[in-house]
Amino acid sequence: TFDVSAPWLSRVLERKPRQYLHAVNDISFTVPAGGCLSIVGESGCGKSTVARLVTGLHRPTSGALRFAPGAQGAPLSVQMIFQDPFASLNPRWRVKNIVAEPLRELKLLKTRAEIADRVEELLQIVGLSISDGEKFPHEFSGGQRQRISIARALASEPEFLVCDEPTSALDVSVQAQVLNLMRKLQDELGLTYLFISHDMSVVRHMSDRIAVMYLGRIVEEGDTEKLFADPRHPYTQLLLQTIPNVQNPNRNRAPASGEVPSPLKPPSGCTFHPRCPIATKRCSVEIPEVRMLSNGTRIACHLVDEREAAVAL
Ligand code: SF4
Ligand code: MG
Repeated sequence: TFDVSAPWLSRVLERKPRQYLHAVNDISFTVPAGGCLSIVGESGCGKSTVARLVTGLHRPTSGALRFAPGAQGAPLSVQMIFQDPFASLNPRWRVKNIVAEPLRELKLLKTRAEIADRVEELLQIVGLSISDGEKFPHEFSGGQRQRISIARALASEPEFLVCDEPTSALDVSVQAQVLNLMRKLQDELGLTYLFISHDMSVVRHMSDRIAVMYLGRIVEEGDTEKLFADPRHPYTQLLLQTIPNVQNPNRNRAPASGEVPSPLKPPSGCTFHPRCPIATKRCSVEIPEVRMLSNGTRIACHLVDEREAAVAL
Protein backbone atom coordinates (compact mmCIF):
# COMPACT_ATOMS: atom_id res chain seq x y z
CA THR A 1 0.00 0.00 0.00
CA PHE A 2 0.94 3.63 -0.34
CA ASP A 3 0.32 5.58 2.83
CA VAL A 4 -0.22 9.25 2.34
CA SER A 5 -0.38 11.06 5.59
CA ALA A 6 0.02 14.50 6.95
CA PRO A 7 0.17 13.87 10.69
CA TRP A 8 1.55 17.25 11.67
CA LEU A 9 -0.19 19.10 8.95
CA SER A 10 -2.57 21.36 10.70
CA ARG A 11 -3.10 23.90 7.99
CA VAL A 12 -2.65 23.79 4.28
CA LEU A 13 -3.50 27.21 3.02
CA GLU A 14 -4.78 27.78 -0.44
CA ARG A 15 -4.51 31.22 -1.97
CA LYS A 16 -7.85 32.73 -2.86
CA PRO A 17 -8.30 36.33 -3.94
CA ARG A 18 -7.45 38.33 -0.80
CA GLN A 19 -8.37 35.43 1.41
CA TYR A 20 -6.79 32.27 2.71
CA LEU A 21 -8.65 29.17 3.55
CA HIS A 22 -7.70 25.99 5.30
CA ALA A 23 -8.23 23.75 2.32
CA VAL A 24 -7.04 20.56 3.97
CA ASN A 25 -6.60 19.66 7.65
CA ASP A 26 -4.81 16.69 9.20
CA ILE A 27 -5.62 14.10 6.64
CA SER A 28 -4.22 10.64 5.97
CA PHE A 29 -5.31 7.82 3.74
CA THR A 30 -4.03 4.57 2.33
CA VAL A 31 -3.99 3.71 -1.35
CA PRO A 32 -3.77 -0.03 -2.04
CA ALA A 33 -0.90 -0.73 -4.49
CA GLY A 34 -2.39 -1.71 -7.84
CA GLY A 35 -5.77 -0.59 -6.54
CA CYS A 36 -7.81 2.56 -6.40
CA LEU A 37 -8.62 4.89 -3.54
CA SER A 38 -11.27 7.46 -4.32
CA ILE A 39 -11.68 10.72 -2.51
CA VAL A 40 -15.28 11.80 -2.69
CA GLY A 41 -17.11 14.88 -1.50
CA GLU A 42 -19.05 17.93 -2.63
CA SER A 43 -17.31 20.75 -4.47
CA GLY A 44 -15.09 22.87 -2.26
CA CYS A 45 -14.33 20.07 0.20
CA GLY A 46 -10.62 20.12 -0.63
CA LYS A 47 -10.34 17.00 -2.75
CA SER A 48 -8.60 18.73 -5.66
CA THR A 49 -6.16 20.27 -3.20
CA VAL A 50 -5.26 16.79 -1.99
CA ALA A 51 -4.72 15.70 -5.60
CA ARG A 52 -2.46 18.66 -6.22
CA LEU A 53 -0.48 18.08 -3.04
CA VAL A 54 0.10 14.44 -3.92
CA THR A 55 1.35 15.29 -7.42
CA GLY A 56 3.51 18.14 -6.15
CA LEU A 57 1.56 20.82 -8.07
CA HIS A 58 0.83 22.46 -4.71
CA ARG A 59 3.13 22.67 -1.73
CA PRO A 60 1.68 22.93 1.76
CA THR A 61 2.05 26.55 2.89
CA SER A 62 2.43 25.26 6.41
CA GLY A 63 2.68 21.81 7.88
CA ALA A 64 4.03 18.84 5.98
CA LEU A 65 3.06 16.10 3.60
CA ARG A 66 4.46 12.63 4.20
CA PHE A 67 4.39 10.18 1.38
CA ALA A 68 5.46 6.64 2.25
CA PRO A 69 5.89 4.71 -0.99
CA GLY A 70 5.90 1.14 0.24
CA ALA A 71 8.57 -0.67 2.21
CA GLN A 72 11.43 -0.16 -0.24
CA GLY A 73 11.15 3.58 -0.17
CA ALA A 74 11.55 3.79 -3.94
CA PRO A 75 10.62 7.18 -5.35
CA LEU A 76 7.13 7.18 -6.79
CA SER A 77 6.45 8.23 -10.31
CA VAL A 78 3.17 10.14 -10.29
CA GLN A 79 1.17 11.53 -13.19
CA MET A 80 -2.08 13.45 -13.17
CA ILE A 81 -5.21 13.40 -15.32
CA PHE A 82 -7.39 16.50 -15.15
CA GLN A 83 -11.10 17.13 -15.39
CA ASP A 84 -11.05 19.21 -18.55
CA PRO A 85 -9.02 17.44 -21.22
CA PHE A 86 -9.32 20.39 -23.58
CA ALA A 87 -7.72 22.85 -21.19
CA SER A 88 -4.85 20.50 -20.45
CA LEU A 89 -3.92 19.80 -24.09
CA ASN A 90 -1.94 22.35 -26.11
CA PRO A 91 -4.35 23.28 -28.96
CA ARG A 92 -1.52 24.13 -31.37
CA TRP A 93 0.25 20.79 -31.09
CA ARG A 94 -0.45 17.64 -33.03
CA VAL A 95 -1.56 14.77 -30.82
CA LYS A 96 1.64 12.81 -31.51
CA ASN A 97 3.70 15.70 -30.11
CA ILE A 98 1.44 16.07 -27.07
CA VAL A 99 1.88 12.40 -26.23
CA ALA A 100 5.64 12.53 -27.00
CA GLU A 101 6.28 15.55 -24.77
CA PRO A 102 6.99 13.65 -21.54
CA LEU A 103 9.26 11.24 -23.44
CA ARG A 104 11.32 14.17 -24.68
CA GLU A 105 11.19 16.16 -21.44
CA LEU A 106 12.36 13.25 -19.35
CA LYS A 107 14.73 12.00 -22.09
CA LEU A 108 13.24 8.54 -21.76
CA LEU A 109 13.95 7.57 -25.35
CA LYS A 110 16.84 8.70 -27.53
CA THR A 111 15.95 8.50 -31.20
CA ARG A 112 13.03 9.96 -33.12
CA ALA A 113 12.13 6.51 -34.36
CA GLU A 114 11.94 5.14 -30.82
CA ILE A 115 9.74 8.04 -29.76
CA ALA A 116 7.47 7.62 -32.80
CA ASP A 117 7.09 3.90 -32.08
CA ARG A 118 6.24 4.53 -28.44
CA VAL A 119 3.69 7.21 -29.35
CA GLU A 120 1.97 4.79 -31.74
CA GLU A 121 1.91 2.16 -29.04
CA LEU A 122 0.43 4.61 -26.52
CA LEU A 123 -2.29 5.74 -28.94
CA GLN A 124 -3.28 2.13 -29.49
CA ILE A 125 -3.26 1.36 -25.77
CA VAL A 126 -5.91 4.03 -25.22
CA GLY A 127 -8.02 3.01 -28.20
CA LEU A 128 -6.98 5.67 -30.72
CA SER A 129 -5.57 5.03 -34.17
CA ILE A 130 -2.08 5.85 -35.40
CA SER A 131 -3.46 8.42 -37.86
CA ASP A 132 -5.06 10.27 -34.91
CA GLY A 133 -1.51 11.31 -34.01
CA GLU A 134 -1.47 13.73 -36.96
CA LYS A 135 -4.59 15.59 -35.79
CA PHE A 136 -5.08 18.49 -33.36
CA PRO A 137 -7.03 18.33 -30.08
CA HIS A 138 -10.04 20.29 -31.42
CA GLU A 139 -10.67 17.55 -33.98
CA PHE A 140 -11.64 15.13 -31.22
CA SER A 141 -14.65 14.63 -28.96
CA GLY A 142 -14.38 15.09 -25.19
CA GLY A 143 -13.99 11.37 -24.56
CA GLN A 144 -11.27 11.03 -27.19
CA ARG A 145 -9.46 14.03 -25.75
CA GLN A 146 -9.46 12.35 -22.37
CA ARG A 147 -7.94 9.29 -24.07
CA ILE A 148 -5.18 11.58 -25.40
CA SER A 149 -4.44 12.87 -21.90
CA ILE A 150 -4.35 9.33 -20.58
CA ALA A 151 -1.85 8.38 -23.32
CA ARG A 152 0.30 11.36 -22.39
CA ALA A 153 0.11 10.49 -18.68
CA LEU A 154 1.17 6.91 -19.42
CA ALA A 155 4.14 7.93 -21.58
CA SER A 156 6.52 8.15 -18.64
CA GLU A 157 5.35 4.78 -17.30
CA PRO A 158 4.08 6.09 -13.96
CA GLU A 159 3.11 3.66 -11.21
CA PHE A 160 0.64 6.09 -9.66
CA LEU A 161 -2.02 8.12 -11.43
CA VAL A 162 -3.91 10.93 -9.76
CA CYS A 163 -7.19 11.48 -11.59
CA ASP A 164 -9.14 14.62 -10.68
CA GLU A 165 -12.75 14.25 -11.87
CA PRO A 166 -11.47 12.72 -15.14
CA THR A 167 -14.92 12.03 -16.57
CA SER A 168 -17.21 14.61 -15.00
CA ALA A 169 -17.09 16.88 -18.08
CA LEU A 170 -18.21 13.98 -20.30
CA ASP A 171 -21.63 12.61 -21.30
CA VAL A 172 -22.73 9.64 -19.22
CA SER A 173 -22.30 7.08 -22.04
CA VAL A 174 -18.81 8.37 -22.86
CA GLN A 175 -17.99 8.47 -19.15
CA ALA A 176 -18.50 4.72 -18.89
CA GLN A 177 -16.18 4.07 -21.85
CA VAL A 178 -13.39 6.15 -20.37
CA LEU A 179 -13.83 4.60 -16.91
CA ASN A 180 -13.74 1.11 -18.41
CA LEU A 181 -10.58 2.01 -20.30
CA MET A 182 -9.01 3.24 -17.07
CA ARG A 183 -9.87 0.01 -15.29
CA LYS A 184 -8.49 -2.08 -18.12
CA LEU A 185 -5.25 -0.09 -18.10
CA GLN A 186 -5.03 -0.49 -14.35
CA ASP A 187 -5.16 -4.29 -14.70
CA GLU A 188 -2.82 -4.49 -17.65
CA LEU A 189 -0.21 -2.03 -16.43
CA GLY A 190 -0.51 -2.56 -12.67
CA LEU A 191 -1.37 1.09 -12.07
CA THR A 192 -2.40 2.54 -8.74
CA TYR A 193 -5.07 5.24 -8.82
CA LEU A 194 -5.97 8.10 -6.57
CA PHE A 195 -9.35 9.02 -7.98
CA ILE A 196 -11.12 12.26 -7.15
CA SER A 197 -14.85 12.55 -7.75
CA HIS A 198 -18.09 14.02 -6.46
CA ASP A 199 -20.10 11.18 -8.01
CA MET A 200 -20.77 8.20 -5.72
CA SER A 201 -21.84 5.89 -8.54
CA VAL A 202 -18.60 6.54 -10.47
CA VAL A 203 -16.61 6.02 -7.29
CA ARG A 204 -18.35 2.72 -6.56
CA HIS A 205 -17.43 1.48 -10.02
CA MET A 206 -13.77 2.48 -9.75
CA SER A 207 -12.51 2.07 -6.23
CA ASP A 208 -11.30 -0.51 -3.74
CA ARG A 209 -11.32 2.06 -0.96
CA ILE A 210 -13.14 5.34 -0.49
CA ALA A 211 -12.27 8.37 1.60
CA VAL A 212 -15.17 10.76 2.16
CA MET A 213 -14.11 14.39 2.60
CA TYR A 214 -16.05 17.22 4.16
CA LEU A 215 -14.67 20.76 4.48
CA GLY A 216 -11.02 19.75 4.35
CA ARG A 217 -11.20 16.65 6.52
CA ILE A 218 -11.66 12.96 5.83
CA VAL A 219 -14.74 11.93 7.80
CA GLU A 220 -14.90 8.27 6.77
CA GLU A 221 -12.43 5.99 5.00
CA GLY A 222 -12.95 2.34 4.27
CA ASP A 223 -13.44 -0.54 1.90
CA THR A 224 -15.83 0.36 -0.95
CA GLU A 225 -18.32 -2.45 -0.44
CA LYS A 226 -18.46 -1.94 3.33
CA LEU A 227 -18.94 1.77 2.89
CA PHE A 228 -21.87 1.27 0.52
CA ALA A 229 -23.42 -1.55 2.52
CA ASP A 230 -22.98 0.05 5.92
CA PRO A 231 -22.14 3.76 5.75
CA ARG A 232 -21.37 4.90 9.29
CA HIS A 233 -20.82 8.64 9.11
CA PRO A 234 -23.98 10.78 8.79
CA TYR A 235 -22.37 12.67 5.90
CA THR A 236 -21.59 9.44 4.00
CA GLN A 237 -25.20 8.41 4.56
CA LEU A 238 -26.36 11.73 3.13
CA LEU A 239 -24.13 11.36 0.04
CA LEU A 240 -25.49 7.87 -0.59
CA GLN A 241 -29.06 9.16 -0.42
CA THR A 242 -28.33 11.50 -3.33
CA ILE A 243 -27.52 8.69 -5.78
CA PRO A 244 -30.40 8.37 -8.21
CA ASN A 245 -31.63 4.81 -8.36
CA VAL A 246 -33.84 2.76 -10.63
CA GLN A 247 -36.45 2.00 -7.98
CA ASN A 248 -36.85 5.61 -7.11
CA PRO A 249 -35.97 7.83 -10.08
CA ASN A 250 -37.66 10.86 -8.54
CA ARG A 251 -35.40 10.86 -5.55
CA ASN A 252 -34.09 14.30 -4.80
CA ARG A 253 -30.53 14.57 -6.10
CA ALA A 254 -29.63 17.58 -4.01
CA PRO A 255 -28.45 16.89 -0.46
CA ALA A 256 -31.53 17.05 1.72
CA SER A 257 -30.19 19.09 4.58
CA GLY A 258 -28.71 22.27 3.25
CA GLU A 259 -25.70 23.62 1.46
CA VAL A 260 -22.02 23.20 2.24
CA PRO A 261 -20.89 26.08 4.49
CA SER A 262 -18.08 28.29 3.21
CA PRO A 263 -14.66 26.78 3.88
CA LEU A 264 -13.56 30.32 4.72
CA LYS A 265 -15.71 30.24 7.84
CA PRO A 266 -16.02 26.59 8.78
CA PRO A 267 -18.47 25.80 11.60
CA SER A 268 -17.04 25.04 15.04
CA GLY A 269 -16.59 21.54 16.41
CA CYS A 270 -17.62 18.91 13.88
CA THR A 271 -17.91 21.06 10.73
CA PHE A 272 -20.82 18.90 9.59
CA HIS A 273 -22.97 19.73 12.63
CA PRO A 274 -25.22 22.38 10.98
CA ARG A 275 -26.37 19.75 8.47
CA CYS A 276 -26.22 16.66 10.64
CA PRO A 277 -29.59 15.12 11.56
CA ILE A 278 -28.24 13.57 14.79
CA ALA A 279 -25.94 16.33 16.04
CA THR A 280 -25.74 16.92 19.80
CA LYS A 281 -24.42 19.87 21.80
CA ARG A 282 -20.98 18.29 21.99
CA CYS A 283 -20.78 18.26 18.16
CA SER A 284 -20.77 22.05 17.88
CA VAL A 285 -17.91 22.34 20.38
CA GLU A 286 -15.54 19.42 19.96
CA ILE A 287 -13.80 18.30 16.76
CA PRO A 288 -14.24 14.51 16.49
CA GLU A 289 -11.01 12.48 16.34
CA VAL A 290 -10.43 9.92 13.62
CA ARG A 291 -10.93 6.44 15.08
CA MET A 292 -10.64 2.95 13.67
CA LEU A 293 -13.68 0.69 13.89
CA SER A 294 -13.39 -3.09 14.20
CA ASN A 295 -14.32 -3.50 10.53
CA GLY A 296 -11.26 -1.45 9.50
CA THR A 297 -13.22 1.70 8.65
CA ARG A 298 -11.77 4.96 9.94
CA ILE A 299 -14.31 7.48 11.04
CA ALA A 300 -14.55 10.94 12.60
CA CYS A 301 -17.87 11.20 14.43
CA HIS A 302 -18.65 11.50 18.14
CA LEU A 303 -21.75 9.36 17.94
CA VAL A 304 -20.47 6.32 16.12
CA ASP A 305 -20.50 3.56 18.71
CA GLU A 306 -17.72 4.33 21.19
CA ARG A 307 -17.26 0.70 22.14
CA GLU A 308 -16.43 -0.18 18.57
CA ALA A 309 -13.75 2.47 18.36
CA ALA A 310 -10.98 0.30 19.76
CA VAL A 311 -8.04 2.29 18.46
CA ALA A 312 -7.77 6.03 18.80
CA LEU A 313 -5.68 7.39 15.91
FE1 SF4 B 1 -23.05 14.52 13.29
FE2 SF4 B 1 -21.88 14.99 15.63
FE3 SF4 B 1 -21.09 12.92 14.17
FE4 SF4 B 1 -20.52 15.41 13.40
S1 SF4 B 1 -19.78 14.37 15.25
S2 SF4 B 1 -21.28 13.78 12.13
S3 SF4 B 1 -22.35 16.50 14.03
S4 SF4 B 1 -23.10 13.22 15.10
MG1 MG C 1 -12.24 19.99 -7.93
